[in-house]
Amino acid sequence: MEGFINKALLIVGLGFMGGSLAKGLRKKGFKKPIYGLDINPDAIKVGKEIGVIDDGWSDYDKVPWKEIDFVVLASPVGTFERIANQLKDKIERNTTVSDLGSTKRLVYRLEKILPTFVGAHPIAGTEKSGVIHSVDNLYEGKKLIITPTKETDKYHLQRVENLWKFLGAKIEYMSPELHDFVFGAVSHLPHAVAFALVDALRELSQEGNIDLFEYPGAGFKDFTRIAASDPTMWRDIFLENKDNLLRSIRAFKNSLERLERLVENGEGKELREYLNEISLLRRSLD
Ligand code: NAD
Repeated sequence: MEGFINKALLIVGLGFMGGSLAKGLRKKGFKKPIYGLDINPDAIKVGKEIGVIDDGWSDYDKVPWKEIDFVVLASPVGTFERIANQLKDKIERNTTVSDLGSTKRLVYRLEKILPTFVGAHPIAGTEKSGVIHSVDNLYEGKKLIITPTKETDKYHLQRVENLWKFLGAKIEYMSPELHDFVFGAVSHLPHAVAFALVDALRELSQEGNIDLFEYPGAGFKDFTRIAASDPTMWRDIFLENKDNLLRSIRAFKNSLERLERLVENGEGKELREYLNEISLLRRSLD
């Protein structure tokens, strides 16, 4: 089963996610050419060296546009509009354009520029970035959210579905609005909190005149792994999904204040009950 790319695939932004897309396709036996376009020439160089792409460029004018019938945007979400504007006069008329971006209301802006655009977000990743860390099984068995709108063209939607089915992902559909609310809560909030927690320990280190990072407990390490994520990517996500992130941060502050009050008032019984409720809920998730 292929039926999604007849000529060649171009990945714009050849980092961890884009590289993993290329590797995953090859692992599944995809035979057509895979190209990369990245503002960082080193990403292209490494991508070619490790055999992730067949060829790649940093210059739009060098790309063999006529050979390409599928483009995936895999750079930080803040770059997508600019890239779409660059692509619009270069791609062949029936080229499907999709993305791997973590926020989805920008689909409305992108489909105005590129009528063949279909928004997609794989629910898979790590705190590592760069093509060098890409893996060939990232998307297998993982959720892939497609966010169609009234304007989404059925033919291009089908091609995007076929691509992800071929990779073994589990496809779900959401409106861009629902997507951004859901992932604002389950992904963007935890990242924001992890960044803030590391910052809090930095502040406390200064206050206590001791380097607290010399004593990282397992809890701290588990909890803050994602604070090592790429700053550009997360700046773009936080700003693109500002309203939902702020709403999630407010909910988190309320929860933290509730815990703070219970501790402050020494309400042992209530505190135990609260922790028990949350602990049971968390255990039920695994
Ligand atoms: P990455 O930093 O590994 O790779 C991004 C690549 O994009 C880099 O090679 C960079 O040089 C390139 N780039 C930056 N600006 C560009 C531009 N204007 N034109 C062309 N290339 C450009 O990042 P990643 O982890 O692969 O994330 C890529 C996308 O995937 C982001 O949109 C992110 O929101 C989304 N995403 C990431 C994860 C994750 O866990 N890493 C999960 C789901 C979705």
